[in-house]
Amino acid sequence: MFKDVLIAVDGSPHSDKALDYARGLAEAFGARLMLVHAYPQTSDLLGYKDFERLVSRRQAAGQEIIATARKRLGAVEDRVQENLLEGPEAEAILKAADTHGSDLIVMGTRGRGSIEGLLFGSVSRKVSHLAPCPVLLIR
Ligand code: ATP
Ligand code: MG
Repeated sequence: MFKDVLIAVDGSPHSDKALDYARGLAEAFGARLMLVHAYPQTSDLLGYKDFERLVSRRQAAGQEIIATARKRLGAVEDRVQENLLEGPEAEAILKAADTHGSDLIVMGTRGRGSIEGLLFGSVSRKVSHLAPCPVLLIR
């Protein structure tokens, strides 16, 4: 049923849990996994004299999140494609799902955000409202 699963990661414990479910889906359905992380938009840095360096620092931090996620996928790692994108996060995830023709998006209900008490984070809320395919929110 699921052949192309997009797994959105932000390095949080919630996203780690979502990764474990994505690994299970890859095993159960023989699905391919697309690992997506969006690093923060860089337009706020325009004009800084260190622009290039600051952008590459954000990209490197994003690449590190993807690499750690890939390791966590363990045995199914060879079925994983990586996609490091620039934010805003929800828009980047939605566009990747659309372009790639993903048939499922897996993500955490919450992420790294620190506001306690919310059921959904802004990224999971927006993606689940606007996604072109089913969304599995892990809690
Ligand atoms: P907020 O960001 O609104 O303060 P939050 O951080 O608690 O709240 P979300 O950001 O919505 O919650 O995170 C929910 C899930 O969305 C995460 O578990 C992860 O799967 C995914 N996600 C969040 N940020 C990103 C990102 N930058 N790139 C890819 N996926 C992300
Ligand atoms: Mg967040």
